[in-house]
Amino acid sequence: MRKRREKDFKSLQSEKTQRYAHRYLVLGTAFILICAIFLVYLGVVMVRGAQIFFPRSSDIIRTETVYGERGRIFDKNGKLLVGNTTNYNLIFEYGSMADKRKDVNLALLECINALKITKTQNYRADDYFPLMGTYPNMSLKNDASDETSNIGYYYQKFLKRTKLDKTTSAKDICERFVKQYKLWQELYSNDEITELIRLYYDMERVDFGFYNHYVIADGLEASSEEAQSLITYVNEKNIEGANFIKQTKRVYPYDTYAAHILGRIGKITAENVSKYKDYPLDALVGTSGCEAAFEQYLRGTDGKKISVYNKSGELIEEYYNPAPIVGKDIYLTIDIDLQIAAEDALKREIERLDDSEAGAATFIDPNNGEILVSASYPTYSQNQFSGIDYYASLASDENMPLLNRAIQGAYAPGSVYKVGAALAALENGDITEDTCYDCQKVYPYFEPNSPTCLGKHGAIDVTEAIEVSCNVFFYYVGHENGLDKITPYTRSLGLGVPTGVELGERIGVVASEEYCLNTSRTWRTIDNATGAIGQSYHLYSPLQLSVYTSTVVNGGSRYSAHFLKEVKDRQGKVIYATEATIAEKVNFSTKTHSTIKNAMSRVISESDTLTRYFANVNATVGGKTGTAQVSTNSTLPDNALFSGFAPYDNPQIVGSCILEAGEAGANASKIVAAVFEEYFIEDVEPTA
Ligand SMILES: [Zn+2]
Repeated sequence: MRKRREKDFKSLQSEKTQRYAHRYLVLGTAFILICAIFLVYLGVVMVRGAQIFFPRSSDIIRTETVYGERGRIFDKNGKLLVGNTTNYNLIFEYGSMADKRKDVNLALLECINALKITKTQNYRADDYFPLMGTYPNMSLKNDASDETSNIGYYYQKFLKRTKLDKTTSAKDICERFVKQYKLWQELYSNDEITELIRLYYDMERVDFGFYNHYVIADGLEASSEEAQSLITYVNEKNIEGANFIKQTKRVYPYDTYAAHILGRIGKITAENVSKYKDYPLDALVGTSGCEAAFEQYLRGTDGKKISVYNKSGELIEEYYNPAPIVGKDIYLTIDIDLQIAAEDALKREIERLDDSEAGAATFIDPNNGEILVSASYPTYSQNQFSGIDYYASLASDENMPLLNRAIQGAYAPGSVYKVGAALAALENGDITEDTCYDCQKVYPYFEPNSPTCLGKHGAIDVTEAIEVSCNVFFYYVGHENGLDKITPYTRSLGLGVPTGVELGERIGVVASEEYCLNTSRTWRTIDNATGAIGQSYHLYSPLQLSVYTSTVVNGGSRYSAHFLKEVKDRQGKVIYATEATIAEKVNFSTKTHSTIKNAMSRVISESDTLTRYFANVNATVGGKTGTAQVSTNSTLPDNALFSGFAPYDNPQIVGSCILEAGEAGANASKIVAAVFEEYFIEDVEPTA
């Protein structure tokens, strides 16, 4: 960025040794002081090779940090979901700073001044500084003693490193910095000393030195007026050691879409510091979603450019050590067009319903576990996310827009569970395709609180019981045989077990006596009956519902659900591809398979409403609706659910939707219909 200034090379050479001594002063023991010169040369030669630090006697070495861009995120069809734009950090570099402490102090004060003059806000040193007030009257902040806070975590590390006692006063801490960095009152004002103590504290915190530059201000948007004037100012002032380096700033072309999946990058905090041990302490890292899950691929690493000048100031050699590393690009299994169709449909339906405020939908490929859509409503703007006010409004919103309901929500499955209950009963031999139970609306047990059916279906077999969603049929199945004969199947199909997804998920709850024992809840005999229709204690995520339906319709292969499709380098070469993995093979007969699938297709074909909703899908659809009571005390309508698949003969896509307080399962089916329409749109032959 900045034109390198001419140097007084003679004085630089003689000052070199002094500079190395500075580093060891920082370390601060008498022994190391005595051995400083020897150790520096020995250490450096061992780590980096002799050529850097034993230049020909007349050579001058300068170093400059070089940007290693973070990898980008694409959808499965190569559409950019997360890209980078150019931001700048104002940094201070050891390898090009002045040689005398007095000059370094002046350069740092110039930098602070530059930030003030150009009204640049992104001043970093405050975030971790444990002191408040102005020198010499500074005191410790309360957070300093709380090791779980960012300030406290680094303060304890500081005390340990400097061998200072926990009871060391703020005054003594200041004096240490004053002595260490020669911050004499006759040279600087008290305000200046305060600023310098703050900066030096932070520089030590991030281990500022030959290999680690210090970020004075970050996230300067190249296009902003502030950044432009700061860059001009610093360059004009020619501040020794100050430089600008590009920094990753994420841009989100689809803004509110897929926000919960993609996640964020941010500074290393006390919480995740152990995970990012080998990072520079001022690095930006993935803090949530795919950014965190795939950090190992996305990470870019800054390098160092070494320039060697001869004594006449001519550049004689230039090389990288280490070379900057550009992060790898990742391709997700998400199809952004389907994701948009799902999110738009979710929003439309939730806004239409009086009481619904939230919902989620997931779609997967039942033949390999690829997650095509993972939608959660309400969502948020990824481009506005870093605004403090915007974030605060999200965090305090009672509808919890930050929650990824698709994988971290847990809901009673309602009648969607009947599919698994039927499969289990058929496989256990508890019923056959011809077994009929008599539905007289009220189940004739558990009086006076007998559970009921929505209809009065009379003698009914399993296919019809799924088709019309008869509760009484399944009360018999659960009550006569016990829910614990059903749950091993539904668990194997995917309910209440990890889906395999790379992002943090809720595992949910399998209703059982054991669960009640472990959580001081009461297990009643009636739970065997209500559990068989997806009530009782069952709680599953929308992603688990899609995995479950996939396993049913594909004939028993439970694939690990996943977001990562491929990793490519910048040249487009695939360096990693996720292979479809069967997490569990569930054995059930082809007869059971076809009975269940047939019943699920009749759910659509025998319902006028559902037939109408799926009329524009260019494939035969099967599915199951559900409504689930949230709690007996709730005045809100039931949750609405739907899980379905298409095409009937060779399922390629499975989708599930839950609408909180969505009233009726058919409402949730609309979101699935919208995505299926989009998915099968290419199969439509253009008409002449
Ligand atoms: Zn019934």
